Parts: sequence; C-alpha cells; structure tokens
Amino acid sequence: MPDATLETGRSAPRAQSDFDVIIVGGGLAGLYSIYRLRKQGLKVRAYEAGDGVGGTWFWNRYPGCRCDVESMEYSYSFDPELDQEWKWPERYGTQPAILEYIDHVAERHDLMRDVQLNTRIKTAVFSEKTQLWSVTTEHGETVTAPACIMATGNLSTPRKPDFPGIDDFKGNWYHTGLWPKEGVDFTDLRVGVIGTGSSGVQSIPHIAEQAKELTVFQRTANFSLPARNAPLDPVKEAAHKAEYPERRKAAYDTPFGIAGFPPPTQNALEATEEERRAQYEAKWGEGGSISYLFSYKDLLLDEAANQTASDFVREKILATVKDPKTAELLCPNNHPIGTKRLILDSYYYETFNKPHVSLVDVRSAPIQEITPTGLKTTEDEYELDAIVFATGFDAMTGAMREIDIHVEGGKTLEEQWEDGPRTYLGIMVAGLPNLFMITGPQSPGVKSQMILSIQWHTDWIADCLEHMKVTGKTRIEATEQAAEDWVNHTREVADSTLYPKANSWYMGVNIPGKPAVFMPYVGGVHTYTAKCNAVVANGYEGFVLSGETVGA
Ligand code: NAP
Repeated sequence: MPDATLETGRSAPRAQSDFDVIIVGGGLAGLYSIYRLRKQGLKVRAYEAGDGVGGTWFWNRYPGCRCDVESMEYSYSFDPELDQEWKWPERYGTQPAILEYIDHVAERHDLMRDVQLNTRIKTAVFSEKTQLWSVTTEHGETVTAPACIMATGNLSTPRKPDFPGIDDFKGNWYHTGLWPKEGVDFTDLRVGVIGTGSSGVQSIPHIAEQAKELTVFQRTANFSLPARNAPLDPVKEAAHKAEYPERRKAAYDTPFGIAGFPPPTQNALEATEEERRAQYEAKWGEGGSISYLFSYKDLLLDEAANQTASDFVREKILATVKDPKTAELLCPNNHPIGTKRLILDSYYYETFNKPHVSLVDVRSAPIQEITPTGLKTTEDEYELDAIVFATGFDAMTGAMREIDIHVEGGKTLEEQWEDGPRTYLGIMVAGLPNLFMITGPQSPGVKSQMILSIQWHTDWIADCLEHMKVTGKTRIEATEQAAEDWVNHTREVADSTLYPKANSWYMGVNIPGKPAVFMPYVGGVHTYTAKCNAVVANGYEGFVLSGETVGA
C-alpha cells in the first residue's frame, strides 16, 4: 500500500484501501447500506457481531416480541416488487416474521457475500496521513477504507443487570435483548421479570402462560395500549398494496414517517369531555400508538391536554385489572402519556388477573441483590427459578461508545460525548471525517418508522459519497459550529414538547452515569428531511468538503 504524502493546507491524498466503505453492523441499516452503496459501484464490507443478520430482530427473540409499527409499513421500500410479493401474516409482525423477511431480503439481493458475521468491531481509527479509517475487529483483523458507516443501531446494547449477587444465582437468567436462539421453557418454574417497558410488557403475558408462578418487578408503570393484533385483513392488504408507491412517498411528509394517519386539527381542551371520551374510545378500539397520540394536536405539547389522554388510559387499566391495589400500581403516574415510548400490548393488563401472576413495586422497595435462590428487595425476599431482565438498553449512543472511535492523536468519541452526544443532523460528528452514522442521535430515527429513517440516512450518505466522487473530494466533515447549532436546535425542539418530562431512555437516564440529554430529534421526519435536503441544496451547508483523489 503506498504511503500518502501530506500537502500543506490540504488534506493528504489518500492511500489505497481494502474497501471503499466499511459498514459496522449487519442489521436493517447495514444491509441496506450494502445494497445501496454496491449499486454505485463501491466495494463494501459489513461487520456483524451476531452469527446472522437482522440486528435488533436477530437478538430480541423473547417470547411475544413483536413490532409496534404495522407490518405493511415496517419494511424496506426500495424493492417495489417485494412490496407486492411479500405476505405479512399479521397486522403487527412478530420477531420471527420480521427476521424471516430480513433474511429473505439479504438472500434476494445477495447481500451476505459482503457481510462478515461473528465479528465485533473494537476500534476505528482515522489516520490524517493515509486519510483512511482503520477498523479493527475483536479477532485482531484490521481493514481500511476512506469512509466508515456506523450502522450500529439504537437499541443494540442491552443494559446488563448490575445487581450484586447475580453470579451466584442458581437458576438461569436472561436478558430480553440477548434471548437464547433455542428459546426458553419456563414450564413449572417460578419466574421473575424485572422491567415493564415494551420488552417486559410484551413478554409478560407469554411467560405467564408457561410459568408456574410469575412475579413482575415494576419500578415505573408505563402506558400501554391494546395493539389489536390480528391476522392481516386481505382487503386492507390489497388496498395497501395498490397504493404502496404513493404511501411510501407520502410517509416522508409525516412526523413519524408513516402515512395514513391524518394529522389532528383540534386541541384536546377545545373538545367537550364527551367528545374527547368518544375520540379516545375509538382510538383505543382501533389499536396503535400513533393513532392515539394523533387524537389531538397538543397531546405532546400541553400537560393539561395530555392529562385527558393519560386519564383515559388509567381508567381503562383500573377497569381491567381486578385487584385494586395491583390496578393502582399499574397506573402510570410520573410522566405524560407518549413521552416514553408508548407501548402496544396484547393482554398485558389482563395477565395480572391470573392467580399465579403478581406485581411487586420496586420503586418503594428497590431490588437490593440477587440471591442464590431469587432476589431481595429492601422489604422482602422472593424465591425464583429463573429471572428475566427486561431492563432495556444503553440506547442510541451505547453501541458507538463501545467502539474506540477516534482520529489518531485525538479524543475518542466517548470522550467527545462525555456530556451527551453531539452530532450534525445525526449523521456526522465534527472532527471525525468520513464517518457517518445511520439514525444517529439528534436524528428522528427512534421517533419514526425506523426502516424509513434508515433508508433516508443511507440514501443521503450514498448521494454524498457520489457527490464527493463527482466533485473530486475525498473528505467531508461537519463543522463544530454546525454541530453546535444542530444540538441546540434539537434541544430547543424537545424543550417545546413534553418529552423531556419523562425519565426515559430517550434522555439516557436509564443508564447510571449517562448524561441526561434528550437524544432524538422530535421535530418530525417531514421537517427533518426538508432540513437535510436544504443542507445539500446549499452545497452541503455545515460540512467542509476537501481533499483530492490520489494522482489528481
Ligand atoms: P425500557 O423501555 O428501557 O424498559 C426497561 C425497564 O426496566 C423499565 O421498566 C425500567 O424501569 C426497568 N428497570 C431498569 N433497571 C431496573 C432496576 N434496577 N430495577 C427495576 N427496574 C429496572 O427497555 P425495553 O422494554 O427493552 O424497551 C426499549 C425500547 O425498545 C422500547 O421503548 C421500544 O422503543 C423498543 N422496543 C420496541 C418493541 C416493539 O416494537 N414493540 C418491543 C421491545 C422494545 P424504569 O422505567 O424505572 O427505569
């Protein structure tokens, strides 16, 4: 490999490399990156820690795992023939159904030949001298490329339980985000589930069906709505397929990246109590979180408005759960509805009416330790044969912070993000040239139909690389000022909503020591994509493009 020569005042011409682009991650983002970049003639390689592709949908195999976005929406849009061919069995896809789809896409488009499985990336270091990223795997292999894409996912770093005593537990314990491939049989076991976010709420009814006794340890009650899952209605499916191209396009002009939900036109308190009740009742019956939050314009903006929607759900919980103490405990009381990920469930609250299921409040009496035979709270001790940790993820930044990413001689990404993530558009970090993120922090990713956002970012990055090629540039980086302005803008947008009122993984506060910073961009996909388009139209405003190709 020839050594590059440094030239004063310019970036060095880049040295030869193993690949044009290295992709970290073989989930939905990594796979689409391969497809998209290959199309423009780039030589790519994706590295995936798992022994299969699919990312989130590969690891989260817990019973009841299902997407909370409807099947007809939650898929790639780049293959219109597949859109027509694919048959989703149910309104909401199960984890196996979604993984089957992802595997099919990988095979259909021959993506696996550019994926290296069973390979976790440990470091990514940029050399000013060679103008290349050197990416090193856990096995010590190092490969180089001028550009690197972090397709590392937002909910891909399970939060490992840090309770003392866990190593001495005699039974088996599981994390929902690292579920054994072969499945788990809880028959005849006394099972404890810790955590009542989406993963807990989805798995609890299924675990209850098997377990001899199920004890749910809840620190924070969350709002959950009935998913109303059912086999996909063939009439609706045919109608959707007939409009697929238009719907896919229209989705980009919506806040959540999902078409078919007309935005509300009224504020909650402008309606009478009767009208509101009828509205919430209809949405409750329909199933789906966007539909419910789209009942009124101001549900995520105004506390009094939100209170009406929150009260309605609390009433439903009280009416469903027979034991009054359990029902009261299940009623969320410390955050406005929708400010934490609104959960969709199938018979969650009903599960607490089963005689062998009980709920323990671990807010008033926190878990102290795992014992060899169960767990101890500050008030009581529980005998358990198996423990399920549905304790969530080091979301949005966890996977990237685990990789040592830096420019030679510079600060690591983790150091740069000590006070919270700082990105420009959620796509790049100032000072890290040619390193792109897909659905990075400060982008709408997790607040949208993820696959749409993944495609948007990947297309944006691919177009950017093509632009660089055409204009003879080899290097792009976000300016400090652009990042600063974007971080501030993201915060201002969040502060104009109720979102920061919840202690959620959006804020990072579920991870001890992680700075409390609201991470997603909540201005909506439509606003965000317009902004990204404007940045490009203004000559990649906020980015510096430089360098020259070797031999130029
Ligand atoms: P999560 O929402 O972060 O929930 C973690 C749960 O564990 C919370 O109830 C949390 O309580 C509890 N917990 C954590 N540490 C604890 C401790 N030391 N003691 C007691 N309780 C503790 O994680 P998740 O349920 O895995 O969901 C994460 C996100 O993944 C979701 O919000 C969603 O976006 C996505 N997801 C989506 C689906 C779907 O599409 N249907 C399914 C699963 C997950 P606190 O709230 O008090 O911290």
